[in-house]
Amino acid sequence: MKNYQVRPGSKVDLREWKTDDTSGSDGKKQHGNDRLAQLRDELEPLQELLYAGREHSVLVVLQGMDSAGKDGTIRRVFEGVNPQGVRVAQFRVPTALEASHDFLWRIHPQLPAKGEIVIFNRSHYEDVLVTRVHRLVPEAVWHRRFREINEFEQMVVASGTIILKFFLHLGEEEQKLRLKARLDDRTKHWKFSAGDAQERKLWPKYMRAYQEAVEQTSTAWAPWYIVPSDRKWFRDLLVCTVLVDALKSLRMKYPPLPLEFKGERGV
Ligand code: AMP
Ligand code: MG
Repeated sequence: MKNYQVRPGSKVDLREWKTDDTSGSDGKKQHGNDRLAQLRDELEPLQELLYAGREHSVLVVLQGMDSAGKDGTIRRVFEGVNPQGVRVAQFRVPTALEASHDFLWRIHPQLPAKGEIVIFNRSHYEDVLVTRVHRLVPEAVWHRRFREINEFEQMVVASGTIILKFFLHLGEEEQKLRLKARLDDRTKHWKFSAGDAQERKLWPKYMRAYQEAVEQTSTAWAPWYIVPSDRKWFRDLLVCTVLVDALKSLRMKYPPLPLEFKGERGV
């Protein structure tokens, strides 16, 4: 699964990253789902250890085109996790107040506290993606944000946060099918917004923006993973695998009983 990490400093050509890739698994949906269930069983106690230790925190960044599955990934990967230790932060079009500050202003207060896992459904990366594609700020402004993001994330990591960034890489054809399904299914109409069809026309511009963003901001401290997302089961499996591996690498132990409770001074 390491193959999906973007090596810091390497060139990225998104056309070479297949959106329907399932290598790293045997390609069978049922096996993938079984494995995901196992991973979720591992995730639950790891999350509790994280919470108990109050030493580290985890930030999961999810980016992707409409219908790439940001919501679905959150629902499926975090299904069994204690809601007390996990929080989702969504970033929409900035409010007037948010827009009157620097682009990281609204991000900072949403970062995970020690012991917490926070999932960003969209993120500060919108400010080098949608902002760029729609020319909401001059090039000089979005361009310097790559460095600003890297430095910001470096500071966050240095204070004990693990940052895992996932670009849910969806095929253009697969998106068409998914948006169509939204139109055909009464229970999915609420997911459809007029803007979606409009954004779709900007696909090549978005791909260029994603490509450069991922290339410029995949760092040793906060790497990007390009997640083939045409197969939902594989997308979820990959994200969960990376997350569980990252938590395991912390080698966390339950904190010991504080000294003052030892011996006859206990209960
Ligand atoms: P959704 O995720 O479907 O609820 O849509 C949220 C919308 O907010 C998307 O169209 C994003 O592109 C947009 N959005 C998020 N952050 C920003 C930003 N910083 N500037 C402009 N638009 C944004
Ligand atoms: Mg949407």
